[in-house]
Amino acid sequence: MAYNAFENFKAVVDKAAKAVNMSEQEYLLVKYPERELTVSIPVKMDDGTVKVFEGYRVQHNSSRGPCKGGIRYHQDSDINEVRALAAWMSFKCAVVNIPYGGAKGGIKVNPKELSLGELERLTRGYTAKIFPIVGPEKDIPAPDVNTNAQIMDWFMDTYSALKGYTVKGVVTGKDLDVGGSLGRPEATGRGVTIIALELLKKLKVSPKDTTVAIQGFGNVGSNAAKFLYANGCKIVAVSDVSGGIRCEKGLDIDKVLAYVGNKKNLLKDYDEDGVEHITNSELLLTKCDMLIPAALENQITKENANDLKCKYIVEAANGPTTVEADDIIAKKGIILVPDILANAGGVTVSYFEWVQNLQSYSWELEEVNKNLERIMVNAWNDLDAVAAKWNINYRLAAYVVAIQRITKAQNLRGLFL
Ligand code: GLU
Repeated sequence: MAYNAFENFKAVVDKAAKAVNMSEQEYLLVKYPERELTVSIPVKMDDGTVKVFEGYRVQHNSSRGPCKGGIRYHQDSDINEVRALAAWMSFKCAVVNIPYGGAKGGIKVNPKELSLGELERLTRGYTAKIFPIVGPEKDIPAPDVNTNAQIMDWFMDTYSALKGYTVKGVVTGKDLDVGGSLGRPEATGRGVTIIALELLKKLKVSPKDTTVAIQGFGNVGSNAAKFLYANGCKIVAVSDVSGGIRCEKGLDIDKVLAYVGNKKNLLKDYDEDGVEHITNSELLLTKCDMLIPAALENQITKENANDLKCKYIVEAANGPTTVEADDIIAKKGIILVPDILANAGGVTVSYFEWVQNLQSYSWELEEVNKNLERIMVNAWNDLDAVAAKWNINYRLAAYVVAIQRITKAQNLRGLFL
């Protein structure tokens, strides 16, 4: 059967609930998204023709607060993917205990094929189409795969124009000058690093003795590489859409970052002494201590999980590992820290951005980073305790924490109808 991310999500939910003896009645609602919207977005292209793009916004659960989650622009995006990504957001926000539900948006498009003007018109068209269901108290989008601060700025501007006044808190991940937060661009990578270092501390392993391979060198992967490298880890392989590079003695990450800093540079053309070129699939099977998938979902599957040569996996992407692969990973004794904790640094600083917007007040960078660290470490400790209590792996522990927090809120609120 073709991979369906939302089915995968539900399978893990059932497994986690079973591990702690919950009956399906107790958690039934988390298996259903609250609201889904599919829109058609007509865009006037530069050559004068009109193209119609399909877009989505799914709100999975709002028991704990307004829905929150990014928007991705990708040619393979579809409603099943966005539905799963929305559910993972509810779970992620619950795991780090911030007062949000979960949502996600997507547009089926390869943004690299659009001019800047076309991208802006597409973004404004999408914003107008989902306008009725978003807002600072309802649902707050953010960047995700192939979207960035500029796209969030256009989103905020369009929403504000339709409202008749500036509404900064409708979206996070904006540029600083229009209500963005210090520390937001690098927050997901920083959070991944905080969690990776907590794991090493627990295992009494020094970062200096840790080799790391990272799949994906976008915002999340490149920042995780930067911070882990700065903390002494040896980064032995990284990859982007064009392919990967590997170096047993460790890559000079400052050099790689400077090279890709020029957006046109792809890793396939990177040249350095001792560097070999590999494919993205080879990257996943690189011999290393810590593997960090930081690209897309459905990367570690039952087809390649048996061949993994790492000791730990820290999931920086959303949903990189399938439920079947989880079992193989557990059997191989690989310790996996799941996405809904490991990559929650982004949405956590998005939460700080929203709080600053609502208060018309800005925090210093130290304030942002200190609070991010506190929230991530607390969440890690909560997860570790639940894993120990029930003798379950971190994936199931994270789902248990999320299910318990969401259903608790749901039960306290009760059913309206
Ligand atoms: N897209 C990011 C995620 O998957 C951030 C979401 C947000 O900041 O709302 O967690």
